[in-house]
Order: sequence, then C-alpha cells, then structure tokens
Amino acid sequence: MTADPRLHNRDGLIDEALAAARARYADSHPQSRAAFERACRVMPGGNTRSVLYHGPFPFRAVRGEGPWLWDAEGHRLLDLLGEYTAGLFGHSNPVIRAAVERALARGWNSGAHNPYEIALAELLCQRFPSLERVRFTNSGTEANLMAVSAARCFTGRDKVMAIDGAYHGGLLTFAQGPSPVNAPYPVVLARYNDAEGLAALVAEHGTGLACLLVEPMMGAGGCIPAEPAFLAAARALTREAGALLVFDEVMTSRMAAGGCQERLGITPDLTTLGKYLGGGMSFGAFGGRRDVMALFDPTAPEALPHAGTFNNNVVTLAAGAAALGEVFTPEAAEALFQRGEALRARLNARFAARDAPYLATGLGSVMTLHPRRADPAQPIARPEDLADADPRLRELLFLELLARGHYTAPRGFIALSLELTETHLAAFESAVDEVLDTHAEALGCAAG
Ligand code: PMP
Repeated sequence: MTADPRLHNRDGLIDEALAAARARYADSHPQSRAAFERACRVMPGGNTRSVLYHGPFPFRAVRGEGPWLWDAEGHRLLDLLGEYTAGLFGHSNPVIRAAVERALARGWNSGAHNPYEIALAELLCQRFPSLERVRFTNSGTEANLMAVSAARCFTGRDKVMAIDGAYHGGLLTFAQGPSPVNAPYPVVLARYNDAEGLAALVAEHGTGLACLLVEPMMGAGGCIPAEPAFLAAARALTREAGALLVFDEVMTSRMAAGGCQERLGITPDLTTLGKYLGGGMSFGAFGGRRDVMALFDPTAPEALPHAGTFNNNVVTLAAGAAALGEVFTPEAAEALFQRGEALRARLNARFAARDAPYLATGLGSVMTLHPRRADPAQPIARPEDLADADPRLRELLFLELLARGHYTAPRGFIALSLELTETHLAAFESAVDEVLDTHAEALGCAAG
C-alpha cells in the first residue's frame, strides 16, 4: 500500500500494471531466463555484482555498439544507464579501441613500469585541482579504502566520518547504516547537507577524527547534490579539526574537466576516482596532497605499502590516457554537463505539467528518476527524504522503458554517455511520455 493518499484508491491499478509489465518482460526474454537459470547453478543467485539483480530475472546484454545494447533475444536498446557512469564513452569508441590495440600489440603483463601510467597520471594531476600526486588502483572501492587508510596513517587518528546513506564501494556501504560486510573502520555517520549537524559531530569527535569521506553528489544514494555551503563547511571544519577532507569523485569527476571540485571551487585534501577514467576498463585512483601521498613513496625508508598486481595494467592505463587526453576534453566535459542539466530540466517540466508521480534529481549528466512528486516544501536534501517513494512505480517505469527499447537502472539511475545525441534523448523523452500515457490512470496523472 502506498503512503500517498492520492494514490490510495489506485493501489489495485498499480499492482495490475506492474504484474502485466513483469509478465511481458518474462515472456519476451526467454533466453535471458535460461541464462539466469544456468548462472544460478554456478553463482549465488546467478550473480557476481549485486546491483545488477532485479526480478524476475535480470536483463543481460550480449553486444554493444555506440549508444546501443542488444540483449540475448536481439532487442536493441538505447543505453541510458551508461554502466553506472563508467560507460561515458559508449560501447565502441574508436580512439580508445585503437589505443588498447596499440598497447596489446606491444605485449602485456610486463611486471614493470610502462609508459601509460605516466601519461594518465600527468593528465589527472593537470586537471584535478587537489591532485598533486596520484596512485592507481583497480576499482573505486579500493581507491576509497586506500584514501581512508592514508588519512588514518597520516593523522594518526582512528575514526572515519562518512555520510548516512552513502555508497563508496562494496566494503564502504552506508545505505542503511554500515553494511555488515564493510571494512572494520570505526565510523561516525553525518547527515548530508546539514552543516550544523556536521559542526556538532566534528566538535564531538574532532580529536579522534582522521577524515570525512563525502561525495559532492550522492550517486547511489539517489543523485542528491551537495549544497555548496555544506561542502564549504566540511572543508573548513575538517581543516580546523586537523582531519582530512576526502572527496569521493568516483561518479562526479565527469562534472567538469577537473571534477566537481573544480566546478565548486572547493579543494579537498584527497580525491578518489574510478569508473570512466580508465576508458571503460577496471579502474580506480586516489591522490591529493603531496605530503599525504608521500606516505607511499617507496624511496623513503618508512614508506607504507600500496601493492596491486594490476595497479598499472597496460590495457586500463593506455585506454584511460587516450580517453582523457583525446576524447573527454574540457570542452566535451562542459558540453556533457550542460546536456544533462537540460535533459533533467525537461523531464521535470514534463512530470510537473502532467502532475506525474516522478521527479528527476541529479547534477549534469547523472540523474535518478524517483517515483515521487516534486514538492517545493520538501526538497530532496538527503536519502531519507525519498523514503515515501513507491517502489512499485520505480519498477513499473524501468520495465516499461525497457519494453520501449530504453535501458536505465532498475532504480531509475541514468548516466549519459558521449554517444547520446539530442535525437536519442528526444526519443527517450517520448518513451517516458508514452509510459505516462499508458498508465495515466494508475499513476494519477494527466493524459498527454
Ligand atoms: N564510490 C562511488 C561514489 C561509487 O559510485 C562507486 C561505484 N558505484 C564506488 C565508489 C565504487 O567503485 P567500484 O565499483 O569501481 O569499486
């Protein structure tokens, strides 16, 4: 039952619409169902990446090209999900492909330094204001673990402050409080966009606090942007307390040539990166102040270890250097940001005009469609503000968009790739309109 009284008498209609959408999905994906059953025989729940699961069995792709994906049944889908931001370059960028092929032609697994690591490190340090020195990892999770450990070693303090509801990787998940599989750091959770609350918590834990780990926009937490004043307070408070400010820019680094930190004009002590910056290959990086990163300088006698067989993987680093140097130029970053801002504004205008129970939140090219009406009296400042969203409407939109050839995340997440043109986005907006038309009665919104 929905908590929204306007939808109360529509509960039955919503249930029916969702049951029909699920049945249609199941009927039109027989090969995917068979693959799921096969996968379940060797992987728990047929799964090796939790976020990809959805009922009755998950969508799977067998091919990608440009902005398109094809499923096992041969349906072609426009990819709006963009691999949760790692797919910024689409599925077949020729510049990245050529760089990978050139690297492969020279052999891989040298067990030695290679030219690509310098090239990518130079590009990152030139572009991101906080990066004086950088080191590579294999994932964003690892980058965050290293940054947090670096902060603890540098300050000689124990506690890690993070944001309630945030996601920083499989071992640093605070979606419903700390996840039981988290790395065992002593954690203090702060409320997002609550500068006063943050000040009180820092005052309480200040002398034991190693760092504050925070995203400039909560990504998995619902695409909720930070208020600049909140991050400015975070900057000042951590500095006064002698703790390090760590920006997790794994998702937000795409918001400008130098990441969200450049757009905001706020420079953290450490930054973590991931996703698209490896050109679409497994990637992570952490970096920042020279004195903090010097902890890992192996020319120093007391250097801390930071090991990793694949930290300088040639495929990732060659792809990343070409991607950042030749494809995702500062101009391309700005254009993509503006394209996303415009799309989000158009979607919200549509939802408002029809009084549809959906709302797009986010920043630039990354957004989430939430099953909740916009309410100026209740802005979305933190994940708990979305608690009354109806999950059935989220699933209905996902399945109905999929049926119309548009792939988003089941949770409504969208990350635009460089391959998506205005024509593609217009087609997506028409598909959204069609879903609202089809279910106008169940959704309690005006017909188009
Ligand atoms: N931080 C943020 C903000 C993320 O969105 C993610 C991944 N979704 C991670 C860290 C973890 O990155 P990875 O999946 O590469 O480990």
